[in-house]
Amino acid sequence: MFKIHGLYKKFGEKQVLNGVDLEIKKGEVFTIIGPSGQGKSTLLRIMNLLETPTSGSVIFDGKDLFEGGRVSVDMKRRMGMVFQNPTAFNMNVFDNVALGLKYRGLKKAEIKEKVEEALLEIGLSGYEKRLAKTLSGGEMQRVSLARAIVTEPDILFMDEPTASLDPVNTEKIEDLIHYYNKEKGITIVMSTHDLMQGQRLADRIGVMIEGVFYQKGTPDEVFSKPANESVARFIGINN
Ligand code: ATP
Ligand code: MG
Repeated sequence: MFKIHGLYKKFGEKQVLNGVDLEIKKGEVFTIIGPSGQGKSTLLRIMNLLETPTSGSVIFDGKDLFEGGRVSVDMKRRMGMVFQNPTAFNMNVFDNVALGLKYRGLKKAEIKEKVEEALLEIGLSGYEKRLAKTLSGGEMQRVSLARAIVTEPDILFMDEPTASLDPVNTEKIEDLIHYYNKEKGITIVMSTHDLMQGQRLADRIGVMIEGVFYQKGTPDEVFSKPANESVARFIGINN
């Protein structure tokens, strides 16, 4: 579904991505782990069209997202993104979740139905009129998630979605990730600093070090047979 080949990204003189190859299969949960500053967020931002690569190809359902140096905006409609810090606009919960639907020009009744369903799924029915800024961090992150999935994306990107949350709220988000993947068939690519979370959620894990994947495999493979010393050291330190 997603095919990345020879992806490089340079910020000024700093080489951040060093030839990433990655294939994401439809329906899977792929988790990116690795030490800080190695390019995880940069890769997610490129996949989600928030950043352009220096070179290399990113193919989504057969279409090159950056062909001829132009960003394919229509493909972005099929993607969702959740960031590390819950992002809410200064409006009520209903309008926050409805944003992408309004942008797509859906009818009012349709928007209402979809927003209500999304709020039910994330456990925030009845919160429609609450201003986003009055929500707790955990509630707001669930609203961010609802906003990302209400448009029924084929693929959802998440950059450390539980990094700012306590264990209870982390579990709620993990349950929702599981639900959206298994029940709604949304393909998920996410980064995390929590290796146990990677193990819990992922079908496959990629270990990113120095802007490339040092290893890709099932959680079992990566944790029981690290491909090299760098991966073993990273897992050893963090496990
Ligand atoms: P973390 O685990 O801490 O979130 P990461 O693996 O997500 O780290 P990135 O955020 O992708 O790492 O950053 C990789 C490197 O690229 C860092 O050195 C960072 O400072 C640099 N970088 C990222 N974005 C920019 C930018 N817009 N301009 C300049 N440098 C950047
Ligand atoms: Mg990051």
